[in-house]
Amino acid sequence: MLSVEDVRSAYGRIEVLHGVTLHVARGEIVTLIGANGAGKTTLMHAISGVQPITGGKILFEGRPIAQLPAHARVAAGISQVPEGRQVFEPLSVKDNLRLGAWSRRASDLGDDLARVRELFPMLEAFWEKPAGMLSGGQQQMLAIGRGLMAKPRLLLLDEPSMGLAPKLVDHVLAVIRSLQHEGLTILLVEQNAGAALAIADRAYVLETGKVALSGNAVDVHSDRRVREAYLGI
Ligand code: ATP
Repeated sequence: MLSVEDVRSAYGRIEVLHGVTLHVARGEIVTLIGANGAGKTTLMHAISGVQPITGGKILFEGRPIAQLPAHARVAAGISQVPEGRQVFEPLSVKDNLRLGAWSRRASDLGDDLARVRELFPMLEAFWEKPAGMLSGGQQQMLAIGRGLMAKPRLLLLDEPSMGLAPKLVDHVLAVIRSLQHEGLTILLVEQNAGAALAIADRAYVLETGKVALSGNAVDVHSDRRVREAYLGI
């Protein structure tokens, strides 16, 4: 579904992705793990179109997308849930969700809003309240819900467990799994490598802008370097 081939990206003259190659097949959960500053968010932004690339190719469902603006990639079926949630704090929960459907120009969002309420019942009580009133965990639910409102086929999730209480982390992971069962394909960036490897089919380890290791999640989890560097074992 997604092919990232030899992708390079830079901030000014400083290159931070040095030829990254990564593939995501339809229906998979693929996780990208790595230390702070390895380039995980930059790669997510390169796929969603927020960050330009300086080399390589990105293909979505066989079609080159690297030249498309971000909004066209959303319309093509890629939705990003950004690191740090980035909800629109003064807007209501409902309006945040409605904005997520902007690219679809749909007139009736009733069923889609109901589906988000079903996935995240805790949002219900804040439906008409400003998103800034929500806790970090609730904002994360809202950010995922907003991403789903675009009806993506590929969901990019950047650090969804960051700053959440352990119980909420479990809930978010369970939701990610259920989205996969519904047919969604997911690329998941996580610092919480243990949690990510537990739900992923395959994994890539990014180190200083390069893929250092990749494979199925079970093999990556048992790799000695991964255990020492990312799992604290
Ligand atoms: P984290 O887990 O901390 O989010 P990451 O793996 O997502 O890390 P990136 O945020 O992609 O890493 O950062 C990769 C490199 O690019 C780092 O050296 C970072 O300092 C640098 N960088 C990120 N954003 C910018 C920016 N807007 N301008 C300049 N340099 C940046």
